[in-house]
Amino acid sequence: VKESGRAGFRFDVPRRDVDLLSRMRLDHAMRQALEFGQFRLSFQPQVEVGSRRVIGAEALLRWRDPVRGEIAPADFIPLAEQSGFIVPLGDWVLREAVMQAAEWLRQGLRMPIAVNVSALQFQQPQFIEGVAAALRMAGLPPGLLELELTESVLVGDADECLRRMRALASLGVALSIDDFGTGYSSLAYLKRFPIQRLKIDRSFVQGLPGDASDAGIVNAIVQVGRALNLQVIAEGVEREAQRDFLARAGCHEFQGYLYAPPLTAAEFEERVRPRRAV
Ligand code: C2E
Ligand code: CA
Ligand code: CA
Ligand code: CA
Repeated sequence: VKESGRAGFRFDVPRRDVDLLSRMRLDHAMRQALEFGQFRLSFQPQVEVGSRRVIGAEALLRWRDPVRGEIAPADFIPLAEQSGFIVPLGDWVLREAVMQAAEWLRQGLRMPIAVNVSALQFQQPQFIEGVAAALRMAGLPPGLLELELTESVLVGDADECLRRMRALASLGVALSIDDFGTGYSSLAYLKRFPIQRLKIDRSFVQGLPGDASDAGIVNAIVQVGRALNLQVIAEGVEREAQRDFLARAGCHEFQGYLYAPPLTAAEFEERVRPRRAV
């Protein structure tokens, strides 16, 4: 705070402390938001390139603060990860997503749902039991849940990580590596992981088809997927030229504004209702 206030005195707080203060305020606001039910999930369709069939939904967190308005995940999830609040928040997301998928199933809509999982959340001793409990409580077949793990989950104790992934896989839950290629990745570990899917990060899709490095990276990821017998899905697909490049590269699933942005549950249902032209 550099400007003098109405009282006319200078208030020289070191920048670090100002940041700390605003971080603490935001953290407090997040905790209240969870308590007051201000978080929502949105659902982004995952689409098969050829048929344009919706084959899944990614659950994405939305926070609307009555004063601040809509707050983007990029503006609060890193803080929630630092403060540890991502653990209860992530649990809420998991339960909510699983309940939505179970509700859809009751309505006759069999839709796999993908949930983002933070490293800290994944490392909690109770995480696996929490996943099992959420599925049990909602009555959702485990095969309809996919957990998206970023490469940050994989740093640290590799054996422990592998043990956890195997425990989740034996529940019947599907696992994918999110933002693949943006973080620490070891192909040696990758081949041992019980995963089903790689997600190509939007940053590699953006420059398609013209950018030679993006094109090369995308081709390489598809090849890795093929070698390891994994499905590959691209995110952030906005233009037909990007989708066409991906299809030619052998990537048969995509997510992005080209098909649909993240939607409310009602909008999602409307979008996937059969016999509706798209
Ligand atoms: P992400 O997992 O890589 O999710 C994809 C992001 O790209 C989402 O942003 C989505 O809205 C956005 N997106 C989808 N299609 C397009 C497109 O065609 N063009 C562009 N420009 N963007 C597109 P969002 O919802 O703002 O989420 C940002 C990040 O926040 C996510 O990246 C994820 O890392 C994190 N996040 C969101 N929800 C959760 C959650 O429930 N738990 C955790 N741990 N992280 C979450
Ligand atoms: Ca994701
Ligand atoms: Ca992603
Ligand atoms: Ca991403």
